[in-house]
Amino acid sequence: AKNAGPGLVEVFDEAASHRSLDRLELRSELVRALDRDQFAVHYQPIFDLATGRILGFEALLRWHHPVRGMVPPDAFIPLAEETGAIASIGSWVLAQSCRQLAAWHRLPGWDRLGISVNLSATQLRQPELASQTLAVIKHAGVQPTDVWLEITEHSSIRTDVTEFATTLRAAGVHFSLDDFGISYSNLSHLKRLPVQALKIDRSFVAGLTEKDADRGIVRAILAIADSLGLQVVAEGIETPEQRELLLSLGCQQGQGYLLSRPVPPEVATEMLREARPL
Ligand code: C2E
Ligand code: CA
Ligand code: CA
Ligand code: CA
Repeated sequence: AKNAGPGLVEVFDEAASHRSLDRLELRSELVRALDRDQFAVHYQPIFDLATGRILGFEALLRWHHPVRGMVPPDAFIPLAEETGAIASIGSWVLAQSCRQLAAWHRLPGWDRLGISVNLSATQLRQPELASQTLAVIKHAGVQPTDVWLEITEHSSIRTDVTEFATTLRAAGVHFSLDDFGISYSNLSHLKRLPVQALKIDRSFVAGLTEKDADRGIVRAILAIADSLGLQVVAEGIETPEQRELLLSLGCQQGQGYLLSRPVPPEVATEMLREARPL
């Protein structure tokens, strides 16, 4: 029965029905989580791999559930998309991140730090997203050029992001193409997207030192970025070998557990106080 089509056996599968009950519960809790102040933004530094300097932070959403504990974003972002809650959650993340960036910019020497914020596919379909985003940035008192919005290849294919991105680009906001290489990697699509950076998915970084294929893919991504004049950020750097290899291949920016895990804002502030500014 396991091989039957999706949804067919589920009704009779006790474990699955527990799972869907669980989802239902999680879904209603998610809608209230924002009001109950259960979300937090953690920040993972993005480094200049050659100098070790911090260039900016990626904002990563965390849900501190009173009973379940920390619920990882992969477990609730899809639900937030389904319910539409992502609109309010997403604008909260952006506002929180921009306010935090404004505070960091007041630390001596850190006024050029950047912030990267993830946008989901559903958010890209909100018609007011561009104007809302600019309003949030302005209200926080940061420069649009310090803000990087991360969109995935997948969501940029499902939705026409051109108008949205063009408006924000005109104001100076930057775009990164997240998880590059794992879905479509349609080069003519890439050419049309107004992105300024590619993020190499961590699955390629993971295989970098052992697998020729992954090394080849990373080389190809760097070559594409070079010819299109795009920056490249490698994700998921976990070993010194991966960092060295990325550097030798010409990748200049990276993030990963080797360098720092995503941390709460206070810890990120401490890192900045102790590090040498840009
Ligand atoms: P992502 O945008 O690809 O973010 C990178 C993920 O890789 C983060 O997982 C980060 O904690 C993790 N990571 C960083 N360095 C390493 C490493 O060295 N090794 C390993 N194994 N993992 C590493 P996280 O925080 O669990 O987020 C998962 C995904 O959830 C994100 O993937 C992003 O797609 C989504 N997400 C997170 N925050 C937001 C948000 O505010 N809005 C939206 N729409 N999506 C978000
Ligand atoms: Ca991202
Ligand atoms: Ca990513
Ligand atoms: Ca990823």
